[in-house]
Amino acid sequence: MQRADILEKIGNTQLIAVSKYQTIDAIRHLYVDGQRHFGESRAQELLEKHAALPSDIQWHFIGHLQTNKIKQVLPLLTCIQSVDSEKLLTEIAREALRIEKSIDVLLQIKVAQEETKYGFSADDLQHLLTKIQQFENVNAFKNIRFCGIMGMASNTDDENQVKSEFKALKTLFDTLKSNFFAQNPHFSHLSMGMSGDYKLAIAEGSTMIRIGSLLF
Ligand SMILES: *Cc1c(COP(=O)(O)O)cnc(C)c1O
Repeated sequence: MQRADILEKIGNTQLIAVSKYQTIDAIRHLYVDGQRHFGESRAQELLEKHAALPSDIQWHFIGHLQTNKIKQVLPLLTCIQSVDSEKLLTEIAREALRIEKSIDVLLQIKVAQEETKYGFSADDLQHLLTKIQQFENVNAFKNIRFCGIMGMASNTDDENQVKSEFKALKTLFDTLKSNFFAQNPHFSHLSMGMSGDYKLAIAEGSTMIRIGSLLF
């Protein structure tokens, strides 16, 4: 499918072109077409592609990020969508302070049934945000811009299950917004929907879809 075809169908939802495993040429093709936001899931691939491609590309990290890679990737990124643990969040915040860079983050939520998916449970995340709000030195997180949440539905043909997982993400997003981020205009993104389920995701309130195979 062409990028224009997808854009026509998604209206106001932001398209992240997931370029993991794709060649520099394939990415450049979409860039020439006007795409600026790309998603990568591995540090090494990001480093290579960032070096080879135009500097106005906005790179989003969408894979599990090991803390020992933060130093390498943070300077290259606009957004880390896959913040899936307190430790990772804390280390990103520390490095962001050190290099004096503001970074957008999305908190990754685990809603899918599969055991392998990373992410916070709704309860764990609310505990963490309460802790940050009440006890932590807010300065420690001053370079973190909390922009919303990211989630992946189960990889299944059961549309009802996928739909209910997207609904759960939307409900959690609304709850977090009112409990923790009512005063934060940046907290506005619900990143959900991939090639196989983006239409369902948009119907359930996605503001950002991450499309790979369908685009390339
Ligand atoms: C690979 C990946 C995508 C894109 O998946 P497609 O099915 O190729 O559209 C989206 N989000 C994440 C987190 C991914 O790892």
